[in-house]
Amino acid sequence: MSQMDDNAVEQSEDDTLILDMLDRFLKSEVKPHVHALEKADEYPSEIVEQMKEMGLFGCLIDPKYGGLGLSARTYARIVERMSAVWMSLSGIINSHLIMAMTVQRNGTEEQKAKFLPRFATGELRGGIGLTEPDCGTDLQAIRTTARLEGDHYVVNGAKTWITNSLHGNCLVLLVKTDPAADPRHKGMSLLISEKGPGFQVSRKLEKLGYKGIDTCELNFDNYRVPADRLVGGVPGRGLQHILGGLELGRINVAARGLGIAVAALDASVAYSQMRKTFGKPICEHQAIQLKLGEMATRVHAARLLVDAAAQAYDRGQRCDMEAGMAKYFATEAGMENSSEAMRIHGAYGYSKEFDIERLYRDAPLLVIGEGTNELQRIIIAKQLIARSPV
Ligand SMILES: Cc1cc2nc3c(=O)[nH]c(=O)nc-3n(C[C@H](O)[C@H](O)[C@H](O)COP(=O)(O)OP(=O)(O)OC[C@H]3O[C@@H](n4cnc5c(N)ncnc54)[C@H](O)[C@@H]3O)c2cc1C
Repeated sequence: MSQMDDNAVEQSEDDTLILDMLDRFLKSEVKPHVHALEKADEYPSEIVEQMKEMGLFGCLIDPKYGGLGLSARTYARIVERMSAVWMSLSGIINSHLIMAMTVQRNGTEEQKAKFLPRFATGELRGGIGLTEPDCGTDLQAIRTTARLEGDHYVVNGAKTWITNSLHGNCLVLLVKTDPAADPRHKGMSLLISEKGPGFQVSRKLEKLGYKGIDTCELNFDNYRVPADRLVGGVPGRGLQHILGGLELGRINVAARGLGIAVAALDASVAYSQMRKTFGKPICEHQAIQLKLGEMATRVHAARLLVDAAAQAYDRGQRCDMEAGMAKYFATEAGMENSSEAMRIHGAYGYSKEFDIERLYRDAPLLVIGEGTNELQRIIIAKQLIARSPV
């Protein structure tokens, strides 16, 4: 990573220790295996076991529940580094941590004591079940229902594009506990849902990139969840709870975009000094310099936006505008830098033997997931108006 980028935001000694440990792990245990795992679309089970040992599944969870209690700021740097090596790894912890933080921020004391220590070790691992075949952006249109029968909710419906749902064993599931509620969000709730009878993984989806990690269609057929798994214990607050969690998710996705943008830049800076045309390294051609200049500027700006959003999250303030700006800008930076890196690498950028084509395939997910970039701009504009009354 370039020196200028390392110095873009300051870092505490503790952060430096954690990030150095992570860098060593990524270099020795991950990087040598990425190419084969990604090509085979194989779940990185051994790497996941090491991530558990490093405490990464609990990195944001309060130490009183067995987590590391890191700040979102440090977390964003972890995600950036992981994504620069292999973005799929950051997905394995991201939706898991949204699930965990949703319980930590909104759960009852009993739920926190019961689930957070198991989330922190990775014994219970998973993510968030929101999207359905008919709706993603318009979450209030979900049709999965949870009917209270005695001391259980009985869940029926379908979800799709659910990350970590094959190899994981638990989700927070967004359901309609009152399908007739008006406004619709008042009938929406979240259930902490461990796999059991009636919770079916129908199929693993084939994807352009983001390989190795499992993203699946799910079916719920009279799946029974104990009523005390309703997050917060009060029905009708599910959408509000999950939207708070998505602020963290957007900071994560922004940091992933940054990681891809950094990897594309670093590869291009190195390659353009080695590859010669017309008697000189291509970095001495002005057309390549223009690309490198734009790519480096995007990385620097994205890093500052990601850090500002993470700091706002750490202050506990509403940060959908900051997270939205970071997500929008940094993920577009990932798209643009991976595309420019492909041009700079010429035919080698198109080769499966180099990393560039993977960055190019991984980047587009980021402009879709955790709220599309169209939605982010709408959120930014709405907040801008709300924060600037005349
Ligand atoms: C690899 C992958 C992993 C995923 N993992 C998860 C997961 O773990 N859990 C989960 O719940 N979901 C997950 N998703 C789903 C993801 O969150 C949704 O795809 C995303 O929210 C968009 O929803 P959609 O695909 O239904 O698009 P739609 O909502 O149908 O949107 C289609 C298009 O219309 C635009 N649009 C929609 N509404 C508006 C509007 N009001 N104004 C302007 N434009 C609008 C969108 O921006 C988009 O361009 C994943 C998706 C992918 C690809």
